[in-house]
Amino acid sequence: MIKQFVPQEACLQCQGCCRFKDMDSVWTPCLLEEEVQDLIDKDIPPAYINMQRKIRPVPSPKGEGFVCAFFECGSNKCKIYQTRPFECQLYPFLINLRDKKVVLTVDLNCPYVKENMRKKEFKEYADYLSAYLNSPKQLEMLKDNPQIIQAYEDVLDLIELKLPDAPE
Ligand code: SF4
Repeated sequence: MIKQFVPQEACLQCQGCCRFKDMDSVWTPCLLEEEVQDLIDKDIPPAYINMQRKIRPVPSPKGEGFVCAFFECGSNKCKIYQTRPFECQLYPFLINLRDKKVVLTVDLNCPYVKENMRKKEFKEYADYLSAYLNSPKQLEMLKDNPQIIQAYEDVLDLIELKLPDAPE
């Protein structure tokens, strides 16, 4: 598991994560190859995963937009929190494709990020994450899972990740 920057209590207060405006939103979590297999082994309905290896969202029971198929609206909790996908562990940080470069970015729509991004804890965490993602094992994982390198808007670039062959 990746060390977390946002405390769980703060996440439970927010009405942002795990909810999406559109069904094919870039923000829906994309799965690593091994995570697709893990979920299939756990007998989750195949319809939960789409052709792009993303969790397919379902219409929000609150009537507007969509929510992740694993999201419990009443409690604001993830039903698979302990084994949630890499992308969900990483969030509000994201792996972004920017001008053919692979960059670690952070979502500026996260209220906790907005409130804390000028603190030394944020800088320390960004350094930890950069070192973690720039390790040979993680770079190899990213190279094997190009589907999780996407183009997000409204994010702040933090540091370039040195993938041997960045996707175009
Ligand atoms: S898997 Fe869990 S953490 Fe990830 S989007 Fe779905 S509900 Fe949220």
